[in-house]
Amino acid sequence: CGIVGVLSHHEAAPTLVEALKRLEYRGYDSAGIATINNDQLDRRRAVGKLVNLSDLLVHEPLAGKSGIGHTRWATHGAPNVSNAHPHRAGRVAVVHNGIIENYRELREELASHGIGFETDTDTETVALTVQYFLSEGLTPVDAARKTIAKLEGAYALCFLFDGEADLLIAARKGSPLAVGHGDGEMFVGSDAIALAPLTNQITYLEEGDMAVITRTSLEVTDSNGNIANREIKTVQIDSARVD
Ligand code: GLU
Repeated sequence: CGIVGVLSHHEAAPTLVEALKRLEYRGYDSAGIATINNDQLDRRRAVGKLVNLSDLLVHEPLAGKSGIGHTRWATHGAPNVSNAHPHRAGRVAVVHNGIIENYRELREELASHGIGFETDTDTETVALTVQYFLSEGLTPVDAARKTIAKLEGAYALCFLFDGEADLLIAARKGSPLAVGHGDGEMFVGSDAIALAPLTNQITYLEEGDMAVITRTSLEVTDSNGNIANREIKTVQIDSARVD
């Protein structure tokens, strides 16, 4: 339901939770974040309000300056911790808004490679497919691109990779996504309002776009894989809404 991402110089967890709070108005049933700390991917998830996630983070803190976060409105699978995002498979974690319509086909394809699933969500198939391509030797960017090409349905996605503390990959089709430009920092939000206290310099991704984001760069490719020139807009913070 709500997606955020940060590549920062500060601790990511408080920024992620704060950004998710700004998306609370959309409603959600569970929430979670993942960060990279010392090149290690880790995540925390909780059912119910964001305060439950915050409480969990007090007892089990998550360090790291790169991360992704999600508030979930369940479409596939009950609202429990196992189905909450971020979903992780091996070296990749992903947050997703929308519905992967062909998740059953993806599961069958994964099963043919001997890969099973652990959750009831459509989203997990995205993480498992990226991890499959990583295990085949593809780079994170190529693994994400090849996975996205297989997806049917509506989605906004943001990926974080183990060992890649300066990389977020984001993609959208049928669901909005914005990239925020900071001072040597970059942000992702499903709604620019999530990023309001962080930056007012926003690049709105267009249908079929995939974004490769580092702290100092944003490279967007369109649905044909061609480099796309997406402008940076100065948005009016209080009315910032994507679409
Ligand atoms: N379809 C996904 C799920 O049920 C994402 C739902 C959402 O947009 O929050 O986990």
